Amino acid sequence: MSNKKPSIAIVSLTCCEGCQVAILDLGERLLELTEKIKIGDFALIEDRAEPENYDVVFVEGTPITSQNVARVKDLRARTKLLVTIGACACLGGIAELKNYQNKEQRLRYVYKNFEGIANPDIRPVRYYVKVDLEIPGCPINKEEFLWAAKELIAGVIPKIPQRPVCYECQLKRNECLLQKGEPCLGPMILGGCGAPCPSSAYPCDGCRGPLKGAAINNFNNKLKEVYGFSQQEIDLIMQRFGMLDDMYPSPPVIPKNKIIKK
Ligand code: SF4
Ligand code: SF4
Ligand code: SF4
Repeated sequence: MSNKKPSIAIVSLTCCEGCQVAILDLGERLLELTEKIKIGDFALIEDRAEPENYDVVFVEGTPITSQNVARVKDLRARTKLLVTIGACACLGGIAELKNYQNKEQRLRYVYKNFEGIANPDIRPVRYYVKVDLEIPGCPINKEEFLWAAKELIAGVIPKIPQRPVCYECQLKRNECLLQKGEPCLGPMILGGCGAPCPSSAYPCDGCRGPLKGAAINNFNNKLKEVYGFSQQEIDLIMQRFGMLDDMYPSPPVIPKNKIIKK
């Protein structure tokens, strides 16, 4: 990148904007960072005139509407690097739950008259455009974001260490929930979050998505054979953040018309 201040944007598609809140939570360290960059768009703080092109665009949220998809394609065409942040953008997020159910029934549940309402399958951002880096989590880990943002601003695409959640969980000397019979997905989920869930005695639901190279089928079988969980119980946890189809990339396993009874 040139001597000019790098130009960045932090944009939201459809989501709760919690990942942007995590970024704001950096406080003074965010202010220090903004001295080194030009922010073209940061919707949660203020609307600004957008420059023609960006160096780095961070995208939060799920591309659900046609406007979302058009927006992310337009940004991709105008940025050197595009980085997705959060489970919504990286995995499809909670909105992707719909893919694993009867979509029409879900729509009827909310709208009495749904004529003219689009009801697409939910996909992560990488389904629509090239993504240079994914920073997953729900919400993202602000420390990881800050580290990655500094690297990206320097023109380097950082590599997120491929370690499971168990690695950080064990460093914190937590008692293992899986060994106590709870359905913790930690062994096959990408770490980097600091294992906040098992540290609070709550099993890891996989908001950071699958760890590359994890022996997923093996772990899945262990959950069933050793710990006695049913495949449906395991699938329901993997659906929570839109991860189920990412766990079995070839061939994709998306149970059709699986209806979660309320
Ligand atoms: S990943 Fe979680 S915190 Fe971030 S925008 Fe989506 S729902 Fe909100
Ligand atoms: S509690 Fe979960 S994350 Fe922690 S060591 Fe056990 S399986 Fe791994
Ligand atoms: S422990 Fe699991 S569910 Fe919790 S933040 Fe980390 S990856 Fe997400």
